[in-house]
Amino acid sequence: MNERILISGASIAGLTLAHWLARHGFQPTVVERAPAPRTGGNGVDVRDLAVDVVDRMGIWPAVQAAAADVHGMKFVDARDRVTARVDTRTAGAIEIMRGDLVALLLENTDVEYLFGDSVRGLEQDENGVSVTFENAAPRRFELVVGADGLHSNVRSLAFGPEERFLRFKDHYFAFADADSALGENRRVTMHNTPGRMTGVYRSGNHAQAKAYFMFRSAPLAYDRRDTAQHKRLLRDAFGGDTFWRVPELLAGALDDPEFYFDALSQVHMPTWSTGRVALVGDAAWCASPASGAGAELALVGAYHLAREIVAHREDHATAFARYHAAHNPLVRKKQQIGPNVRLMVPKTAGGRRVRDTLARLPLMRAMAAAEQLAQSARRRALPDMDAGSAAPHIPHTR
Ligand SMILES: Cc1cc2nc3c(=O)[nH]c(=O)nc-3n(C[C@H](O)[C@H](O)[C@H](O)COP(=O)(O)OP(=O)(O)OC[C@H]3O[C@@H](n4cnc5c(N)ncnc54)[C@H](O)[C@@H]3O)c2cc1C
Repeated sequence: MNERILISGASIAGLTLAHWLARHGFQPTVVERAPAPRTGGNGVDVRDLAVDVVDRMGIWPAVQAAAADVHGMKFVDARDRVTARVDTRTAGAIEIMRGDLVALLLENTDVEYLFGDSVRGLEQDENGVSVTFENAAPRRFELVVGADGLHSNVRSLAFGPEERFLRFKDHYFAFADADSALGENRRVTMHNTPGRMTGVYRSGNHAQAKAYFMFRSAPLAYDRRDTAQHKRLLRDAFGGDTFWRVPELLAGALDDPEFYFDALSQVHMPTWSTGRVALVGDAAWCASPASGAGAELALVGAYHLAREIVAHREDHATAFARYHAAHNPLVRKKQQIGPNVRLMVPKTAGGRRVRDTLARLPLMRAMAAAEQLAQSARRRALPDMDAGSAAPHIPHTR
């Protein structure tokens, strides 16, 4: 029986998986490198099948109550005049601050946690995996799951160096706290110059605003853990911009100790498992923040993985193969980020004018709404977990 399961990463994917496994009689242990839950980040979307997942976990009403209440995006010129607006609200979908979603998942996931620790080594044999940690004593588990994000440690240990799986998507991005006076309430306000975007995110239920930066670039050489170096790269990219609110947003970001910087990258892997080790969430398929689907994929993917482990308690190979088959089509679709990147960061001034014109056309909005409706109609229902042991299903009120 594959009962003791180590999950690396206490974020959206790892906590969702831990919740469902615990609910079905497994003993998950979650190891998280940070000393406490990481609550940073901007708004993330919970939509389509992901709504069903949080609903079945019993937290949909709480997710709705914590909704970021953002109505859409607006694009502005150097003098803050609006050049286009896009309404991003979708019936039945919720945008929520990443930290609020992580807090709700944690509250609802009563398992063993090892905060401030990380897996150092993994050794698999026929019956299990021997795991060594940076701090805790060595332990034995039947399965190990890496839910530790884009730069997954478990992926490096079990599958090889990340260079094999990461695809750089020609941009870098940064998130940081911002002065809320700099953005319009309930909007993401964005300013573009060719190949660059600066934005402010203001949710309707948070006093704090978030700054976004994205810039097109050839690959840059830097140390992924050196925040001072990341800040220098951002200053190099935007320090010369004296227009709109860029100087204030940049000054705020450079002051923020929670400053988050990374390459816009995706993870592409032929398989998400090797023996008794599997991956879930960004570790397995990161579609990048430009997809707007990181949370949705993490919630739905973790549910599929849990469901297959529950259904094939003694046969992890079948469970992992079925999980990949069930979730990979959605991943492949959400990894198509080209149109989103062109919307957020047009390469040229001409591209920006085309974007603004298209965003203003009522026909385009009608087509986007129709596509959303068609997508909802096309989506397949979320399969049930082993009905015998599942907690009662509470229907949601969409
Ligand atoms: C602090 C933070 C802020 C983010 N902000 C945004 C945002 O604003 N917008 C957006 O679209 N996406 C953001 N993301 C990414 C977003 O959360 C993911 O795309 C998506 O939700 C999938 O989640 P995940 O659980 O797979 O991975 P992540 O949310 O990336 O979580 C991975 C977890 O693994 C932990 N971890 C990493 N290495 C180790 C290790 N060696 N051992 C143990 N644990 C480890 C991390 O601390 C983290 O808690 C953010 C992620 C983080 C960690």
